[in-house]
Amino acid sequence: MNKPHAPNSWEARAMTSVMAGFTDFPTLKARGPIVLTHGKGVRVYDTEGRDYLDANSGLWNVVCGWDHEGMIEAMVAQTRRFPAYHAFFGRMADSAVALSERLVEVSPFESGRVFFTNSGSEANDTMVKMLWMLGMVEGQPQRRKIITRVNSYHGVTAVSASMTGKPYNAHFGLPLPGFLHADCPHYWKYGNEGESEAEFSARMARNLEALIIKEGADTIAGFFAEPVMGAGGVIPPSAGYFAAIQPVLRKYGIPLIADEVICGFGRTGNVWGCDTYEIEPDAIISSKALTCGFMPLGAVILGNEFAERFQAASEKIEEFPHGFTASGHPVACAVGLKAIDVILNEGLLDNVRKVSPYFMNRLRGFEDHPIIGEARGIGLMGALEMVSDKATKAPWDGSLSVSERVANACMDQGLICRPLGQSVVLCPPFIMDEPLLDEMFDKLSLALDHVAKGLGR
Ligand SMILES: *Cc1c(COP(=O)(O)O)cnc(C)c1O
Repeated sequence: MNKPHAPNSWEARAMTSVMAGFTDFPTLKARGPIVLTHGKGVRVYDTEGRDYLDANSGLWNVVCGWDHEGMIEAMVAQTRRFPAYHAFFGRMADSAVALSERLVEVSPFESGRVFFTNSGSEANDTMVKMLWMLGMVEGQPQRRKIITRVNSYHGVTAVSASMTGKPYNAHFGLPLPGFLHADCPHYWKYGNEGESEAEFSARMARNLEALIIKEGADTIAGFFAEPVMGAGGVIPPSAGYFAAIQPVLRKYGIPLIADEVICGFGRTGNVWGCDTYEIEPDAIISSKALTCGFMPLGAVILGNEFAERFQAASEKIEEFPHGFTASGHPVACAVGLKAIDVILNEGLLDNVRKVSPYFMNRLRGFEDHPIIGEARGIGLMGALEMVSDKATKAPWDGSLSVSERVANACMDQGLICRPLGQSVVLCPPFIMDEPLLDEMFDKLSLALDHVAKGLGR
């Protein structure tokens, strides 16, 4: 693993030619990059033929595995028929129309409209611009502030990074003004001594209301939330959280936008995270599993009321002056149509429901481990949070890079899982069965024991 890479290897070339994003540079320097050549089922293979069980589905998205024939066929067929187009000037590909209809059909909305982007970040960015335009056109130009939550992840463009509630965005001088971050509903971490989970959720709602009043309700354009925070470390909301905050948002006329980029299309065991947590959104942001990761695609799905208001606002100024060159890309849309079919009708969502109890059960088994403080998750997403003291929940000193160590020890076992803060995240493909889950957890267990030993536990 730590051997120097041959001078002209892919790995050596990557080290000098690629600007790696979201990569821990000390780890990259010590271990080198992993350059992958292909994938099969739930595994990916590197240039030296080593295989890895990818417990992160790529980046939450490759839920059907890497060699799904139907997906590949759909992509090839569309590429042969009509490989490229845009969606400007009233022109668009038929597959973009078909996917718009399908997304509304599977959404919680009776009717609605869809706007396509190439990524989740761009979809959030687009939604914010829509909210701003609504304010401008409807005579409420002061309605510009966006509320998200601490630890949330909404993307990396200047706007979506401003929405993201992570400290690293300070390195860019972000957030931009007017992006506010409400509390993170992580009871295990932020609950007060003696506070019940219900009391905690009520406090989250009270604090949100106080924030709204302090800022002025009529200055707030929208509230965005992931049903389960994903890149924040798989944080399911505290019990009753959405039931507590939704009335507050309604009281002040603040739209609720569900960022379903991770939860959407089955991750929580339902089509939408909104189904799992009884969230009634005004609009939905989708990406990632929307194409099983086979093509870049993001979507803003506007619910009935929003769609009508936004259509009226656009008519008033004669257009919605926004769009990406590849918005509604015909191949991405055809792949999205197929992916929805594969997930909903070819047993992937059913399989998430089937194996999720086993997944959660084995995940929870790690709560007895000496360095694990919390095991949390839902559906087929989970995280283990490391602590240096189980009683006080004290984290490990950051300089120890504990989660990096665990992820690296997993790599040595042929298992890909992601370090996130003091947690490691598991979000395997939807095609996992019990033996594969056992393989995943057994490898993780060995890695954890190895790291615990190194830490003297
Ligand atoms: C990944 C993610 C995004 C950003 O999507 P990109 O395609 O990486 O731009 C936005 N929101 C959530 C919840 C995500 O997990």
